[in-house]
Amino acid sequence: MLENKLFEALLDVIPFSAYAVDINTYEVIYANKISRENMYAPQENFCWEKIYGQNEICSWCSIYSLQQDKQNNKHQHEFFDEIDDKWMSSYDEIMSWPDGRTVKYTILVDISKQKEAQGDMIRSHAKLAVKSKQIAQTNKQLQITKLNLQKTIRELEESKAELKLLASTDPMTGLYNRRYFKDVSEHIFNISKRENKSLSVLMLDIDKFKRINDTFGHQKGDEVIMLLASILQKHARKSDIISRFGGEEFLILLPETAIDGANTIAEKIRTNIRTLDIEVEVEKDKIEVISITFTVSAGVSTINFNQDLNIEAAINRADKALYQAKESGRNRVCSLII
Ligand code: GH3
Ligand code: MG
Ligand code: MG
Repeated sequence: MLENKLFEALLDVIPFSAYAVDINTYEVIYANKISRENMYAPQENFCWEKIYGQNEICSWCSIYSLQQDKQNNKHQHEFFDEIDDKWMSSYDEIMSWPDGRTVKYTILVDISKQKEAQGDMIRSHAKLAVKSKQIAQTNKQLQITKLNLQKTIRELEESKAELKLLASTDPMTGLYNRRYFKDVSEHIFNISKRENKSLSVLMLDIDKFKRINDTFGHQKGDEVIMLLASILQKHARKSDIISRFGGEEFLILLPETAIDGANTIAEKIRTNIRTLDIEVEVEKDKIEVISITFTVSAGVSTINFNQDLNIEAAINRADKALYQAKESGRNRVCSLII
């Protein structure tokens, strides 16, 4: 039959294996060129032996299911050919062969390369997923490190502020120390001079403090110093800078205050000195409360911006005025101006 020969010749040129199996006898009735070249057992008749090298009907054979399913006469599946180590895709279709027989016509395509590419893609994808997970973890760690760093910076700033406060204050009284007083008073001196505002200093010293220490002990002496510090804080104004200048010596900077105002404040402090009540064991198991009385002397001075080059000049005058107060009997306020 010429028609038949022509049909088979056409199938010979397609670049895949193609063969036809009689669905009633399982005999291979046609195999194209590539299929013939790849046959396992060309001498055999049954498709399972001839095409696939099996001893019985292939486990994946679609002939039965294609016959059962009247709606669908096509079937496609992929399988791994263990003998040739290849991935194959099989396209099966039930059709009438030109000679009138009903056949399962199959095209077999080697899809190993696609499978390999698919595998590569899956592997790259998995690698990418691992990498993104690592990046996410690194990001998380970076975030934690950033938070820790921010915490450390905050703590450092707190310590810095604490240190600054410690460096500028006297631990016993909480008042500013001499160093801070010097820094801030120079600054206030310049502002007062520029704005033509008066500025005074008040130096204050506990009278005969040595005697208090000698009589009641050093610790009670400390308590007297702390009591005086609280009295100074009570009677000074918010803008005044109160400092513990030495042992029992205090210096107060009074911005926007002329000599009269400074004298008034000094007098107010002097007259408001309270006694320190302490418990003393006079006999065994007999406690009595006694009062430590003390007085202070003060020297006051004010800045003369025409002559004073810095705050030191006024501090020296206040010191001299204090000396005068001591010399003239203590428990008093003296002032010295130029
Ligand atoms: P004056 O009226 O002339 O100021 O007499 P004074 O005894 O107060 O003066 P003096 O300078 O002779 O003595 C001051 C004493 O203050 C000597 C020192 O031991 C004592 N002192 C200094 N700092 C402290 C302190 O922090 N605590 C105590 N308890 N005593 C201190
Ligand atoms: Mg003293
Ligand atoms: Mg003194």
